[in-house]
Amino acid sequence: MEIIHTIEVRELVELQKKDAVMDARAAIAAGVPVKISALNAAFEEKKRSMSAAREALLALQVKKKDCELKIAEADEGIRKHQRELNLVKDNNAFKALLSEIENDKKNKDELETSVLFLLEEIDKASVQDKAIREEVKKIEETLRAEVAALAAAAKEIADGLEAAKADRAAAAAALNPELLEKYENIRANKNGLAVAAVHEDPASGKLSCGGCHMSLTPQKTLDVKKNGAFAVCPDCRRLMYLERTVYPELSPSAPPAEK
Ligand SMILES: [Zn+2]
Repeated sequence: MEIIHTIEVRELVELQKKDAVMDARAAIAAGVPVKISALNAAFEEKKRSMSAAREALLALQVKKKDCELKIAEADEGIRKHQRELNLVKDNNAFKALLSEIENDKKNKDELETSVLFLLEEIDKASVQDKAIREEVKKIEETLRAEVAALAAAAKEIADGLEAAKADRAAAAAALNPELLEKYENIRANKNGLAVAAVHEDPASGKLSCGGCHMSLTPQKTLDVKKNGAFAVCPDCRRLMYLERTVYPELSPSAPPAEK
């Protein structure tokens, strides 16, 4: 059980490579809607601050309008009391009217100060409102471009995946069913990786499992160099192979595989 002899080593390695590519693409495709909704959410947040800035500006304008109305009322009061001044004979009534006029003038002064302050505030709020509107517009343009690019990429991946699925199904169908079942079982339990290329340390030449990274024992090192067989990793149970044994044409300088 620790070594699996098969004439289909290369075919199964190829299947694993196809599956790895398909899994990676499927993961990218699945991530696209998540990315799009994150972009949209960030944009909605920005739009909310745009609305808040606009509301703040409108509120200041309403306050200013209110002050101006009160100034007009104060003016009206001053005029009314001045007319009345000419008609009264009683000294106390005259003093009372003068005091009313003084009050109205004082109120008017305060209101005019408020209007000046509000004008400054409105200026600041207008600048902020304009800036945030421009920012939102820019973000919207970028967002549109990004979403379109993401959607196009997702479609391309989806189209490619359909073709890859058919190709994968044909490759799987050509394999020994028992070997395929073993492969699928390990793949299901090992995060999609059933067949792992062993890693060869360039300095020491030591081998480790490409799935779990455990170092290979001397016996496993011999096993994995054999042609027509997978060595089973004692730690993760994945089927291990050596690239240069399975693909000798890719490393012509490598020593020949052991029989
Ligand atoms: Zn392993």
